[in-house]
Amino acid sequence: MLKQNKHMWRVSVLTLFPDMFPGPLGQSLAGKALHAGLWALEPTDIRAQATDKHRSVDDTPAGGGPGMVMRADVLARAIDAVAPEGDPRPRLLMSPRGMPLTQSRVQALAEGPGAVILCGRFEGVDERTIAARGLTEVSIGDYVLSGGEIGALVLIDACVRLLPGVMGKEASGLEESFAAGLLEYPHYTRPAEFEGLTIPEVLVSGDHAKVGRWRREQAEKLTRERRPDLWASYLAKSRKPAPEG
Ligand code: SAH
Repeated sequence: MLKQNKHMWRVSVLTLFPDMFPGPLGQSLAGKALHAGLWALEPTDIRAQATDKHRSVDDTPAGGGPGMVMRADVLARAIDAVAPEGDPRPRLLMSPRGMPLTQSRVQALAEGPGAVILCGRFEGVDERTIAARGLTEVSIGDYVLSGGEIGALVLIDACVRLLPGVMGKEASGLEESFAAGLLEYPHYTRPAEFEGLTIPEVLVSGDHAKVGRWRREQAEKLTRERRPDLWASYLAKSRKPAPEG
C-alpha cells in the first residue's frame, strides 16, 4: 500500500517546451486527478532564465564535437527559481545515463513529496549542473530520445496512478505487472467466444482459489519465458528452488 502523503504531490518540470505539459497527463485518470487538485504539475520554461540578448540556453561543447550543450548557469538559475534550498523534493535529470526507472523507484517517488524534473535537449546538460544542484539521473530505458520531456511524462504518469484516489480501484495497483516481481497474468472479458477463441475454463469456473492459482502460474510462466532477468531476481527473493529441467 502507498503511504498517505501529508501534502499534495507536486512536480515541477524544467523544459524548453513547457507547452508539452500536461499533454497526455491532462487526460483520463491522471487528468481528472490533476483537475481535481489531487496532484500538481508546474512546467516552467528554462529560457526564462537566459540573460543574454539572444536568450541562449546552450552553447558549443568544450573540446569540440557535434551538437550543443545546455549551460550550467542557466539551468542552475532555473532550478533555484522553482526549488530553493530546503525544498524536500528529489531533483531528477532525465538522462540515458541514469539508472533505468523501475516500479519500486516509481513507488518510492510517489510516496514522497513530488519531484523537480529537468529535461535535457541537444547533447545534454553541462556536467557541472549535476553536482552543483545534486541531480539524480533517471533513464526510462536503453535508447536515446530527442529530449527529456517524454521521459518526464512517463515517470510522472507512473507515479500519479499510484497516488491515493487517482485510480478507480486502489487494489488494481497491487496485482499488476512488477508489483510482485512478476509480469501480469493474461486478462479476458466478454464475449465468451471471439473468432473461435474461448476463455480459459478455470476463469469461468467461479472457483476463486483455482483462479488465483492459475493466475499465479501464468504470471510465473510468462516471466520465466520473457524476462529471465526478472525471473532470476524473483527466485532469489522468494528463495524458491528453481524448477527441474
Ligand atoms: N548525447 C546524449 C543524448 C542526449 S538526448 C547521450 O548520448 O547520452 C537529449 C536529452 O534527451 C537528454 O539530455 C535527456 O534529457 C533526454 N533523454 C534521452 N534519452 C533518454 C532516456 N533513455 N531516458 C531519459 N531521458 C532521455
